[in-house]
Amino acid sequence: MNFLDLQLNTSLKNSLSSLDKGNRMPHALIISGDSKENREALCGHLAAWAVCSSDGDRPCGKCKNCKNAFDKAHSDIYFAKGSGKTKIYKAEEIREIIRDASIKPNQADRKVYIFEECDKKLSEISQNILLKTLEEPPQDILFILTCENAKNLLETIRSRAVTLNLGDEREVGGKPKELAEEILTSMLLSSEIELMKSTYMLNERFLTLETLYSIVIMLRDGLCAQSGFAPENNTDIAEKLCRKLTKAQFLELIDITNSAQLKINQNVSAELVGTWLCSQYRKTVW
Ligand SMILES: [Zn+2]
Repeated sequence: MNFLDLQLNTSLKNSLSSLDKGNRMPHALIISGDSKENREALCGHLAAWAVCSSDGDRPCGKCKNCKNAFDKAHSDIYFAKGSGKTKIYKAEEIREIIRDASIKPNQADRKVYIFEECDKKLSEISQNILLKTLEEPPQDILFILTCENAKNLLETIRSRAVTLNLGDEREVGGKPKELAEEILTSMLLSSEIELMKSTYMLNERFLTLETLYSIVIMLRDGLCAQSGFAPENNTDIAEKLCRKLTKAQFLELIDITNSAQLKINQNVSAELVGTWLCSQYRKTVW
């Protein structure tokens, strides 16, 4: 992802780049924390990313789609308007947006729908109407919800979206790569306490998904090292892994980690997946 002049902490930049690079950007994002201005800036940036027509790093900031997006004048980026003095998003407007979301974009490859200050403007009823669409999102749609505190939104909405918290680096995932290495190292040491401690850190959906993704890459690198090829990344952990594990164990661990990712995507809580992962790794390696 291209960040142009957007001010953003490194942890969030890394997380967004990794989602973009891996084609894993979700259909719904919640931007919370920090000031309203900073939430709006990130929201506008992600909307431009979604419509940019560059083949390189997006948003390029130069193409017509980007220019219109940054001018808030792109026909595929829709800001929910709200009604009345408080600009509440009423059920009727949400239903209209859901209808519109099934129509193909005008100029870009994606459509973006933005709901601002959702903890004030999106009632529980409206959230439940929106939820059905977040559960089965139409193709090529990005929903962005901004709010002061994501915890004020329904748990069901949060579980269908990735939360980008501008205020607290830990909540957006801390350091998934370091955590992945910690989990694998304690697994190799056969230290139950250490393994429990490290998998216990998997307490949030986004962090868990990113960590599991890193674990799979590290296991693949280990398997690669064992087959006599030099791994491209993660050399240290790859060597440690290949000294201790058999090929069958590598394959089983990759399977287990993929199943854990699937469980998260099926909405099993991160805590439960962490506990399950701990017991499965123990069974496979010890
Ligand atoms: Zn562009």
